[in-house]
Parts: sequence; structure tokens; C-alpha cells
Amino acid sequence: MFDAKAYAVASASSPFAPTKIARREPTEHDVQIEILFCGICHSDVHQARNEWSAMPTVYPCVPGHEIVGRVTRVGSAVSRFKAGDLVGVGCMVDSDGTCPACREGVEQFCASTTFTYNSPDKHLGGVTYGGYSDGIVVDERFVLSVPSNLDLAGAAPLLCAGITTYSPMRRFGVTKGQKVGVVGLGGLGHMGVKFARALGAHVVVFTTSPRKKEDALRVGAHEVVVSRNADEMRKHAGSFDFILDAVSAEHDIDAYIQLLRRGGNLTFVGAPPTPHRLDAFGLLFGNRSLSGSLIGGIRETQEMLDFCGTHGITADVEVIPIQKVNEAYERVLRSDVKYRFSIDMASLRSE
Ligand code: NAP
Ligand code: ZN
Repeated sequence: MFDAKAYAVASASSPFAPTKIARREPTEHDVQIEILFCGICHSDVHQARNEWSAMPTVYPCVPGHEIVGRVTRVGSAVSRFKAGDLVGVGCMVDSDGTCPACREGVEQFCASTTFTYNSPDKHLGGVTYGGYSDGIVVDERFVLSVPSNLDLAGAAPLLCAGITTYSPMRRFGVTKGQKVGVVGLGGLGHMGVKFARALGAHVVVFTTSPRKKEDALRVGAHEVVVSRNADEMRKHAGSFDFILDAVSAEHDIDAYIQLLRRGGNLTFVGAPPTPHRLDAFGLLFGNRSLSGSLIGGIRETQEMLDFCGTHGITADVEVIPIQKVNEAYERVLRSDVKYRFSIDMASLRSE
């Protein structure tokens, strides 16, 4: 074992503070990574504050699952990586590798997936600690290659916000000629806009923040609707093939279901702590459907990273030192970030 520097919360109401955590010595299948950047996902906020009753938080908690870094050491059996490689780690660091979900490449649904933080640590006991840290050790099966042409601070959020929005769009066949809505211009939402645009769709952003209109157009939307304006919403009734809902809080979903065409689908990626209410009639009239989507498997995450390499896609980031993480959380809660915070881990190394 060795010590890594990290920032942790000690309880649901504590601010982040510097700490030391244990990382394992790399086993023969492990890759040791010096973390360069880590994105701040709203899931980190939900988890640090113990907002999800289905996934209670174990403290101390070190969040962070949008990791990019450089390989410093590899185990003797590692074949795909070597010291110096630029790599990424997302929401998972292990799974059983043999169950039907793993064999299909959807490791997020393996019964024994190890998530990057707040998940039982099979090696050290306790729970896993995430990317708000200067280093991490991960089984090579869960390490991704980051295309060398991408800006690293902007590439970090691809590891969660990127795959979470790319995966359902591919599954539902988003393509040229379709009309696609993205609800909530946050970290996930702005990536959803970039992917829908790159896949050739006509993209409409729904936002509660009129101040984000210009940015929505800049990141790729063809149209922007301020969702609190009922007249603007009605103009789009019955017209969408697919709507991606990336909102972190409870909101009126019936209003969006009304915007789907016959047979259209609304997929939730947002994970609000409280349930939505739903009028079934909106789905009945039009054979519309409602789905959910959880991140994406490792194979598809690599496909997404390669797609980003080809299309030059990264997140729009505000790079911050780790010492500003508490302030950043408050800004995430106010929907005041353009459009993802990316922590520069040089700030932790120099502490
Ligand atoms: P984020 O950056 O905070 O963005 C959320 C956006 O939702 C905000 O920018 C805001 O957009 C909108 N919003 C916030 N509060 C709202 C409210 N009360 N009513 C209506 N709209 C509101 O969050 P994120 O990191 O993108 O994550 C979004 C959600 O996805 C979180 O719940 C997170 O836990 C979840 N998530 C799920 C997965 C998965 O695998 N399914 C993966 C990662 C994250 P506007 O200002 O444009 O309205
Ligand atoms: Zn996330």
C-alpha cells in the first residue's frame, strides 16, 4: 500500500478537506495512474451529501469518476498500457468479468461491479475512493485510452458525462433527419447537445436559465426553448423523436412527454433524489415511451472516446484548483457552471 493525497468529506454536511488515503500496490493486472484532471459530476454532489437513499454514502467519501491521467507503473501481466500513456477512468473500476452483463459489455449491470467511489473495495476493504486524488490504481480492463488530440481538462468529463449521453443516443439510433431534445444545459446536457449535433440531428435545448441561450447555440443547438415559457413549449408539441432528460432535480416531465411524436422516446439520465410524478395518459396517446440509461459499458466508453477524438469533441470546462472544490459544489447547485468543473490535480500535488 501507499498513500495518495485526496480531498474528502467526513459527513453529508462537511466541507471537503485534504486527507491521505491508501492505494494498493499494483497487482499484475493493475495500472497505476497519476491523475491530471478530474471532472465534478452532479452525482459527486448527490453522493457526497448522501442524497440517494438507494446508495447510502460511507464516510469519509472521496468522489470523482471523470478521471484522466498518465500511467506511471503497470503490473507484469498488463498488455495494453505502458508508463507514459494518457488514460481515463470512469464510473467503474472492476466487475466479475464473467456474468452475462459483463460478457455483453455492460459491466455497469454486473451484480458485483465496483464503482469508482463509495463501493466495497475488494482489495483493501472499506470503500473505494475516487478521483479527487493525485493517484489511483485500476485493473487494466477498466482503463481507457484517451485520444492524444484532445485537451485533457476537457476530456475528463467524457468519462461520465460523455458516455452517459452518448450511450442512449446510440441505443435509440439518433441520426440525421431526427429532432432531438436535451433538457437541462449542465454537464451532461451540454455533452448531449454536442453528440446529437455530431450525429446529425436537429437539436433543441430546453433550459430553465434564459442566460444560457447563447451558450446552448454555441455548443451546437439549433434552437433553444426556455422551458418556463408555456407558449414556446407548445410550439414543439408532438414533434420530437427523442428527448434526453439530464436534469438533477424533480421537474414536470408531462410537459416533455407531450412534445414527443407518436412512438417517440424520452430517456432519463438525470438522477434526482426525489421521484417524478407522471400522467400515464401522455404516454398512452401516441404509444410514447419512457426509459432510463446508466452510464455505458467499457467497450462503448472507448468507442465514445474514439468518436470524440475523430470529431474533436470535449466538454466545455472551467478548470479549478482542488482548493476551490467547496465553492464549485455551491455553484453546481446553482446551475452556475460553464459547463463542467475540471479539477487540475497539479494543485493537489503542490499542496
Ligand atoms: P448539472 O451540471 O448540475 O446539470 C443539471 C442541469 O439541470 C442544470 O444545469 C439545470 O439546467 C437543470 N436543473 C437543475 N435544477 C433544476 C430544476 N430544479 N428544475 C429544472 N431544471 C433544473 O448536473 P450533471 O452533472 O449534468 O448531472 C445531471 C443529473 O444526471 C444528476 O442528477 C446526476 O446525478 C445524473 N447523472 C446520471 C448518470 C447516469 O448514468 N444516468 C451519470 C451521471 C450523472 P438549466 O439551467 O439549463 O435548466
Ligand atoms: Zn458522473
